[in-house]
Amino acid sequence: MNIFCVVRNYAPHAAEMKSPLPAEPTFFEKPHTALLPSPATLTYPPFTNDLQHEIEIVVKIEKSGSHIPCSDAHLYYNSVALGIDLTARDIQRGFKASGMPWLLSKGFDGSAIVSQFLPLEEVHKSINDLCFSLCVNGKTVQEGNSCDMIFSPDRLISYLSQFVSLSAGDLIYTGTPAGVGPIQRGDHLTGFLEGTQMLSLLVM
Ligand code: MG
Repeated sequence: MNIFCVVRNYAPHAAEMKSPLPAEPTFFEKPHTALLPSPATLTYPPFTNDLQHEIEIVVKIEKSGSHIPCSDAHLYYNSVALGIDLTARDIQRGFKASGMPWLLSKGFDGSAIVSQFLPLEEVHKSINDLCFSLCVNGKTVQEGNSCDMIFSPDRLISYLSQFVSLSAGDLIYTGTPAGVGPIQRGDHLTGFLEGTQMLSLLVM
């Protein structure tokens, strides 16, 4: 099982990170040991002083494929979840500055929070029109809609599969909207998809 994550897929988030918009989808990976199903409790990692949240829509691949045309990409998933791409931002800044890989800042144990998966037929909406949000201690800090993605889930799957064969069970974290920010010890994070709470994370 692979955990693929997309970088800068919402223009306002790229702006808040002072990063240029990508011309093509850009991916990184988290190890499978990063996966932490919701509801979850996570110990604040001792190696960072700037743990940050990135709420994202997660797509689960249902069958193997490679070189998937964009027009066929919808045949490769049928459910969505909410996830948090936890990031040790201080460490990531260091890696970015030196041009080195991000793995340790984004792939540490428990860095890929994921909710249960909801069949799209139960959501009754297109994957390209899903609103979602993240609250920290009951206050909304991130809000997004998949219609604002720079690269749609179908485009992401098609593009990724030109390079990497996809397998059933692979997850794609599709990028975060604006509003990323720090998490403190004791914070309770809750994620909502179309107004329904899907995700809970307590950071100790
Ligand atoms: Mg992210």
